[in-house]
Amino acid sequence: MAEQQSDTNNLISCRVCGVIMVKIAKDICPKCFKAEEELFAKIKNFLRANPGASISQVAEYCDCTEDAVHAFIKSGRLERVGLRRIAHQCELCNTTIYEGVMCADCKKKLKDQVKQLRSINPQQN
Ligand SMILES: [Zn+2]
Ligand SMILES: [Zn+2]
Repeated sequence: MAEQQSDTNNLISCRVCGVIMVKIAKDICPKCFKAEEELFAKIKNFLRANPGASISQVAEYCDCTEDAVHAFIKSGRLERVGLRRIAHQCELCNTTIYEGVMCADCKKKLKDQVKQLRSINPQQN
């Protein structure tokens, strides 16, 4: 009797712990998925209680890396549950901001630049 072979094409490694598993809907194993969900719930609760906390505070309290917190911000997951007030850095000048990817100054600068471009080359109707 031949031994049943599993289809190796369906095997992937978990993106967190690297364990080899059969491909399901996610690229993460059930164990890591559960850990991630628990971490997300922890971060969510911490931020609800401490609006405006910094990433390092969140990481310290939730016992995770700052990268993990960043990943939740970048993926928009925290924003989707209504959490926008988390201290992180403006992508242009590194000022601490609480929402979006840019600080108000950089936003204004960009706006002014656009305005300037328009005044150099006014649109005629
Ligand atoms: Zn895993
Ligand atoms: Zn800025």
